[in-house]
Amino acid sequence: MKDNLDSTGMEGLTKVKPPGRIGVVIQYLVGYFQEEMLYVLTYLSMVFGFLYLLGKVMLKVFFGELRVIETQRMYDRLLNFLLFKVVFIGAILDPRWEDLLIWTTWFTILGFLRIFSMLCRDRFEFMSTTNAPFQEHGRIIILLVLIFIADIFWFILCVIVFKSMLLLLTFECVTLFLDTVQTLVKYIIHLRDLSRPGVWESRALLFYYTEFVTDTLILVATLGHYMHIMILHGISFTLIDAVLFLNMRSVFNNLRKKIAAYRSYRQAITNMQAQYPSASEQELDEYNDDCAICRDNMTQARKLPCRHMFHLSCLRSWLEHHESCPTCRRPLVRTNSSLQNRS
Ligand SMILES: [Zn+2]
Ligand SMILES: [Zn+2]
Repeated sequence: MKDNLDSTGMEGLTKVKPPGRIGVVIQYLVGYFQEEMLYVLTYLSMVFGFLYLLGKVMLKVFFGELRVIETQRMYDRLLNFLLFKVVFIGAILDPRWEDLLIWTTWFTILGFLRIFSMLCRDRFEFMSTTNAPFQEHGRIIILLVLIFIADIFWFILCVIVFKSMLLLLTFECVTLFLDTVQTLVKYIIHLRDLSRPGVWESRALLFYYTEFVTDTLILVATLGHYMHIMILHGISFTLIDAVLFLNMRSVFNNLRKKIAAYRSYRQAITNMQAQYPSASEQELDEYNDDCAICRDNMTQARKLPCRHMFHLSCLRSWLEHHESCPTCRRPLVRTNSSLQNRS
């Protein structure tokens, strides 16, 4: 074996270096990497085993039993994440064992945090529509804050350890950060709403802006990330390029739709404020009735042409699906832009 390697190593390299040593070095390296491969596999199975157990414990502690839809979404996201990351690693890296080790660890940790961040969001959306006990909210908030801290810690680690790959690696941290912040901010708004009596008119608006700002930033970051991959990888008309290109196109379209939807939303709000004036305190006293949409009492209200009154936020969500007064069914004249908003 040694002689064999010596003779093959010798042929092209005799002029540069003594042949025997090169052969020995190659043999050593082959042996080293075979051994290393075993270490890598052992290491990976240990990491995955540990994360699997940790995940199970975290699910029990923070979520109790998952609902069917939550489980389903969790597996969908996991699959998407894995699929895209395989493409990503294929596009960027020469699959060398040392590199794979770093990237796999990186994506595993961030994927793990991401799965839990999105689970928190699902659970929050479910709990905000039901009357969940306060300690259940508390558990989800604690988990969100932990994910937030872990993400920042991981980001700092990345800045210190992988300076050259910084932009590529930090992308995952940034999107996770934005997603977690979105859920946290919505949580703060929701808890503030719970602590107030009556209907909080600005709630829906604040929710909308929180979602709009974070989602748009995520889309912009994603687009930049894909472009960066494309620049690093170069255009070579392979399957990976096609996947990247399709992804970029869909992100770009989403971004365009988001901005268009935002414009119509602004327009619809402006129209509504112009079309349906606020009721004065005296009018509210005379009206002396609850909002027919949410059955809650009104301290502020909007007045329809038929003189029925509703909360602004209730009216807004009602008009997204109906075109008549909720109480007397009298048709409401729609302006062009609010019609546009619906289509
Ligand atoms: Zn109402
Ligand atoms: Zn009416």
